[in-house]
Amino acid sequence: MDSLGTFVSFTSKLPCQRANVLTDWGTEYKHLREDVIISAQLLGWYDRNARVMPWRVGPRDRAAGQLPDPYAVWLSEVMLQQTTVAAVRDYHRKFTQIWPTVHALAAADDADVMAAWAGLGYYARARNLLKCARVVVAKHDGQFPSNREALLSLPGIGPYTASAIAAIAFDKVATVVDGNVERVMARLHNVHAPLPKSKAELTQLAERYTPDTRPGDYAQAVMDLGATICTPRNPACGICPLREQCAARARGTAAELPKKTPKKPKPTRHGTAYVVQRSDGALLLETRPDKGLLGGMLGWPGTDWGEAPAPAPPLSADWEVLDAEARHTFTHFHLVLRIARADVPIEATPTRGHFLLHPQFRPSDLPTVMRKVYDLTESHLNRSAKDQNNG
Ligand code: SF4
Repeated sequence: MDSLGTFVSFTSKLPCQRANVLTDWGTEYKHLREDVIISAQLLGWYDRNARVMPWRVGPRDRAAGQLPDPYAVWLSEVMLQQTTVAAVRDYHRKFTQIWPTVHALAAADDADVMAAWAGLGYYARARNLLKCARVVVAKHDGQFPSNREALLSLPGIGPYTASAIAAIAFDKVATVVDGNVERVMARLHNVHAPLPKSKAELTQLAERYTPDTRPGDYAQAVMDLGATICTPRNPACGICPLREQCAARARGTAAELPKKTPKKPKPTRHGTAYVVQRSDGALLLETRPDKGLLGGMLGWPGTDWGEAPAPAPPLSADWEVLDAEARHTFTHFHLVLRIARADVPIEATPTRGHFLLHPQFRPSDLPTVMRKVYDLTESHLNRSAKDQNNG
């Protein structure tokens, strides 16, 4: 459909209060409200350029009456909190293959879900995912509520996610504001106040353009525009559907927006991870406490993480400290983990953790930082074995 056709199609579906403004649009185009024009341009662009995503019903199918699966949309939105679309695709596919419905997920073992989530980060999301699935099954008969307020009452669903699910899964009028939308709004209106202070202003601007018709497609259109055209560096203004209205483009300020208040440098914390292998090959692991970082995930026993934490070996052994350290960055700090390893006899009795034999232990079940510890230990052992063979 060309842009004229899209626009006609769009305006023909507008409710009365907006349709009044749009009568005889062919001759009165210049009098149309800017918000209506911008929404229509974005929807027209989306109709031609929507990204394909496993959880998305594209504009053509949607127009033909196909509805998105709220379970798939909810799963994608929880996974996308703090994570990119590229990183989420495979996890989403894996989850919907193993647990194709909210009933299946609600009945899953906690440990299986945590293991399937390993590597995606921000593990509280996985714990809340399970809690939410169980509440949806227990209190909502397995149906996700369609309105934002009811969605907000569910575990792990904050204002952004509630708006995104209401708009994308149920086509409700809800304004969805992520980093992409903030960038588009800041540039469209040449807003120089830095984030996060400007968040309220950018949200108000985004609200102004949310149409009564196709709000779900519109929400995805702005996000797609920010992800593919109005990118953080080198925005492709020449092919942008908003180029005529964009204030930052007119003033040549697009590349410097949105401004951000500089973040404080992150502190560095230190710790030790203890990798213990029993003579039958079993490895000593522990499930971390539910509360706190990496809560509920599998990991190596270790010290606290701080400036100079006290040693906390899980048993007495002849420890070998590796010359490599596992480094990882969390939201609020950098972590440097020393690695101490030991081989122990079959009768070893650790004060914490449990031994896992190889068929039950899959490195992919570990969160990223613990996986780094495992990989470094493996390479260290391989190197030592090679040196011994060569010597
Ligand atoms: S014209 Fe350029 S800066 Fe403005 S919204 Fe489009 S891509 Fe972004």
